[in-house]
Amino acid sequence: MKKTLRLVLGDQLNERHSWFADVQENIVYVMMEMRQETDYVSHHIQKVTAFFYAMRSFSAELKSKGHHFIYFKIDDSTNEQSLSTNIKNIIKEHNIEHFEYLLPDEYRLDQQLKAICDELAISTEVVDTEHFLTKRNDIAEFLKGKKQFLMENFYRKMRKDHGILMNGKDPVGEKWNFDHENRNKYKGEVPIPPAYSYKTDVTEVLKDIQKADIKTIGTIDAENFHWPIDRKQALQFARYFCRELLPYFGTYQDAMHTEEKFLFHSRISFALNSKLISPKELVDKIIEAWEEDSDNISLAQVEGYIRQVIGWREYMRGIYWAKMPDYANKNYFEHDRKLPDFYWTGKTKMKCMEKSITQSLSEAYAHHIQRLMVTGNFALLNMTDPEEVDKWYLGIYIDAIEWVEITNTRGMSQYADGGIVGSKPYLSSANYMHKMSNYCSNCHYDHKKKTGDKACPFNSLYWNFYDKHREKLEKNQRIAMMYRTWDKKSTSEKEELLDQAEYYLQHINDL
Ligand code: FAD
Repeated sequence: MKKTLRLVLGDQLNERHSWFADVQENIVYVMMEMRQETDYVSHHIQKVTAFFYAMRSFSAELKSKGHHFIYFKIDDSTNEQSLSTNIKNIIKEHNIEHFEYLLPDEYRLDQQLKAICDELAISTEVVDTEHFLTKRNDIAEFLKGKKQFLMENFYRKMRKDHGILMNGKDPVGEKWNFDHENRNKYKGEVPIPPAYSYKTDVTEVLKDIQKADIKTIGTIDAENFHWPIDRKQALQFARYFCRELLPYFGTYQDAMHTEEKFLFHSRISFALNSKLISPKELVDKIIEAWEEDSDNISLAQVEGYIRQVIGWREYMRGIYWAKMPDYANKNYFEHDRKLPDFYWTGKTKMKCMEKSITQSLSEAYAHHIQRLMVTGNFALLNMTDPEEVDKWYLGIYIDAIEWVEITNTRGMSQYADGGIVGSKPYLSSANYMHKMSNYCSNCHYDHKKKTGDKACPFNSLYWNFYDKHREKLEKNQRIAMMYRTWDKKSTSEKEELLDQAEYYLQHINDL
């Protein structure tokens, strides 16, 4: 075999990849901590720390099994901070004859690696990461010729193709979707098990990040880091989720609570996205747990979770590869406003925003509904430039990698793609917030008031949005009813709402 160099990127930590099935003398692996990755956006300090720690422990683990690894730490003197230069230097120093890399999940890295391969004088090959259930371009094929894309259709196909929760050709329980049994407000009916944590000491990694003067956001407790950052931890998190949290996952999937950051969510997204654990392994564990304990775990919980992992997650990846690079510039509503300053501080009188943002800054985490219906909803009501919204989401969350961030943010949340991911914008007034959380009972603003002193900003901004974007939205069948309601309002009521919204938009940083 030719002397081969194999590149492993920071989100490709799949220890079970066939590359590592046996040790081969002629193969050298390389991993790099690089400024190009730490600096393309201001990342949360927990995100940079999690990646560097996970990468270091991954290479150490494989080294201990006999694989030959070259590892560039961020401040190593030989680290040129350039993917291309580092690769070329190793090829020269180690007389490499062949170069291989794993299929990147991000468009920019895909382009960069193709360009590097074009420049190399040796043979090259790209290999699948063996992580996802679908191939990169499967969804592009699936969507061909379809006018309307629907995640539900894709999800059902995934269930059938992979025989997940199937009884022959039919779905187990005779239904594909159990959403109506899920999605309650949390009122303390059942205790929430403590957030699982290994309390990993990550101070060494943090020191290196600080020494390198990498600009980050948010805070960290480096002696008690609570995210799963190696494979053993990822597997333990999955087990804990199945045992303790799955029984109520679906029921409280959309709930929000001032005192509960994680509720019954699995907090496994970093481990999944960095490939410490695979979606198939996770789904198998969920089904196994359900089969063993179906008295405590209902099918509705199991289906609700599996839909996220084999449905939404794979769908977003497929849309990303079907629609990039144009997707990154989509701005259907032509929004151009700045993201309010309080997104970086959490200092706002709106309790839902304060809680969701401060939690994001302290934990690098908010659950799906906080991201979609609180911060995302408000950014949309503020008519924010999707570029700004993307940068915020890409930086702040521990699990944020462009393929899954941009499709959720620009697509699902901001509808900047004009309806590729979602069939309508996810917008709500204070009504939804009050229905799904206890935020409104503790807020400076009055969720019932639409105008006047202390009127909740979500209310007037909501109607303002529909009014401003009538031309683009009124033909959408799923929204038509909103316009009928709006049209029934008196001229003076409409004027009051629009004036209130205008006032709030002009004083956005004071809210
Ligand atoms: P759980 O609630 O326990 O769900 C289990 C798993 O399902 C998640 O770990 C995730 O892998 C998957 N999942 C659930 N919803 C989605 C979804 N909409 N798209 C893809 N996978 C999903 N997820 C990311 O992994 N990275 C991101 O950068 C990201 N950005 C988002 C931005 C916005 C505006 C929104 C609305 C959602 C975003 N999501 C993102 C999806 C979702 O919010 C997170 O996956 C989830 O909150 C992670 O927490 P968890 O592991 O506790 O998830």
